[in-house]
Amino acid sequence: MTQTMRALVKSEAAPGIWMEEVPVPEPGTNEVLVRLEKTAICGTDVHIHQWDDWAKRTIKPGLIIGHEFVGRIEALGRGVSGYKVGDRVSAEGHIVCGHCRNCRAGRQHLCPNTVGIGVNRNGGFAEYVVVPASNLWPIPDEIPSELAAFFDPFGNAAHCALQHDLVGEDVLITGAGPIGIIAAGICRHVGARHVVITDVNDYRLGLAKDMGASRIVNVTRESIGDVVEELDIEGFDIGLEMSGNSSAFNDLLHNMYHGGKVALLGLLPEGTGCDWDQVIFKGLELHGIYGRRMYETWYKMTQMVLSGFPLERALTHHISIDDFEHGFELMSAGNCGKVVCDWTGDIERRSA
Ligand code: NAD
Ligand code: ZN
Repeated sequence: MTQTMRALVKSEAAPGIWMEEVPVPEPGTNEVLVRLEKTAICGTDVHIHQWDDWAKRTIKPGLIIGHEFVGRIEALGRGVSGYKVGDRVSAEGHIVCGHCRNCRAGRQHLCPNTVGIGVNRNGGFAEYVVVPASNLWPIPDEIPSELAAFFDPFGNAAHCALQHDLVGEDVLITGAGPIGIIAAGICRHVGARHVVITDVNDYRLGLAKDMGASRIVNVTRESIGDVVEELDIEGFDIGLEMSGNSSAFNDLLHNMYHGGKVALLGLLPEGTGCDWDQVIFKGLELHGIYGRRMYETWYKMTQMVLSGFPLERALTHHISIDDFEHGFELMSAGNCGKVVCDWTGDIERRSA
């Protein structure tokens, strides 16, 4: 007897995402079945919903989307050890090959053969998801599920921000999306001096300020150059590009101090150019950032939250999965931090 479950399926090669009744998957060898409690909406899910060029190139219709989630283990496949039914877990969304040079050297985040949960195989916008046991991350009881649901983007922010020593440094972050907002908090948490963040959206800049940014800059009204003068510094020591916008990237390069270090997380449009004099004459170091370290970044995130990092300030909407369309609208309009959808009836119980 095959049981069925509800899932958000990209069933057609067209804009939209549809709630469908599909078979509950079965865990294979070394895999577990997780019953979802919460799933967060990522920008990637919005791209898949909108069916933009990236989504058309990447997604095979029929896919269950979602890679930011938390739930409880419902069943263990053959060969799984170290976990038991009922454990609360999140999971790393990149499934790595385990055989390439980087995997074998402990640099799994640089595996060239990565398979993405909710992108290349069925994901966590469903009542159940199957993931390899090696991708699980156990969540301590003290961390609420609505926060554990978005450890994946928290990990992008942490991996990018913690790339360099931030103690006493002046940091510029371009882009106050959910990841930039969390990164601003991390820079503050670990002891940066000035944490300046830019965006074009005042609501998101407000969240970044709440999270710990020392100066917010709406680039439609103010220039980063003016803020450099106001702070009486020569430029920024550390730059985190988190907007994916080419003019934000160039602004960042122009406002770096000589010898500064730049981490590039935002996905810049094809053909984005830059003023190479900024890089060469100032001796800047540029690092591309992809994903998060497996599993050292997960360890750091967990310990930061347990030691008082205010991750809850990045969560603006905790909604029932029945309202998923509203969640996707919020995300495409940008007037939100993280949007988390609940599968358990928790929202209804809390408001009753
Ligand atoms: P997001 O799209 O929600 O955030 C981008 C923010 O940049 C928005 O708030 C937008 O208003 C702002 N912005 C637009 N133009 C700007 C400008 N000129 N100056 C300053 N800010 C501007 O995305 P997110 O989920 O926070 O992710 C941030 C970026 O990182 C995105 O480009 C995303 O695709 C990328 N990303 C990369 C990885 C990776 O592994 N490298 C992982 C996740 C996300
Ligand atoms: Zn994500």
